[in-house]
Amino acid sequence: MKLLQLAGYKKSGKTALAEALIARAVKREESCAVIKNIHGELDLTGKDDGERFLKAGAKTAFLHRKGLTDTLSRTGGLMDLVRRALGSCDLLLVEGFKEAALPRIWCGSGEIPQEEREALLARFFLDASRREPGGGELCLYALGEDTLEAVDRIIDSLPPFPAGLDCGLCGTDCFGFYRKCIKNRDMRCPVQEGEKSVTLSVNGKELSLTPFVQSLFRETVKGFVRELKGYENGSIEIIIHHQTKEEKK
Ligand code: SF4
Repeated sequence: MKLLQLAGYKKSGKTALAEALIARAVKREESCAVIKNIHGELDLTGKDDGERFLKAGAKTAFLHRKGLTDTLSRTGGLMDLVRRALGSCDLLLVEGFKEAALPRIWCGSGEIPQEEREALLARFFLDASRREPGGGELCLYALGEDTLEAVDRIIDSLPPFPAGLDCGLCGTDCFGFYRKCIKNRDMRCPVQEGEKSVTLSVNGKELSLTPFVQSLFRETVKGFVRELKGYENGSIEIIIHHQTKEEKK
């Protein structure tokens, strides 16, 4: 999955660009999902009922009306939403969430905060007549074919989004790692690469562990062991001698 963020201030053309990119992805027969940050209240029919169901303890409320469904559920923020999209789409557009500073196209005019320039891929101006000097970055004007082809090329060049575990095996979190991948396209998430970080054997026979289970073991054991006196960085080996009933007799 590739992830592209469309950031910018209000009414800067983010949604218009997202719409056009979705239509192109669909034409290419790619599946596309969008995460949009909405300021203010969600305007959903039946929202009150949905919120009541969540308050009562439901994990998710699906509000259905004439072939469309609103889904209300509690989330743990942007990473949680990205994780939900992983594996289910080819392209994920994130509209808004400026502070996340993911690889992005900055839409509209206005000063781009310095700390948000790190992952800047291009600037997009919906209004072609309003040519503003950029800071040396690629500037795209209006929603014409040239602009959309340029954005397609940007999407093509994006690295795959990492495994989404936020496990820290790469020395940072998944968003931080994805930002680094933009500068160094050869980098690959160690979890995705199938790098084995945990080995579990029972009676000398190795069991196969998914990256997620490896991460679970690693973080649980590390969290416990690093508190012990004498702990130092390195590989950890634990052998549990489990006696059968017969052996105990
Ligand atoms: S190793 Fe991969 S899954 Fe873990 S935090 Fe880094 S990028 Fe994310």
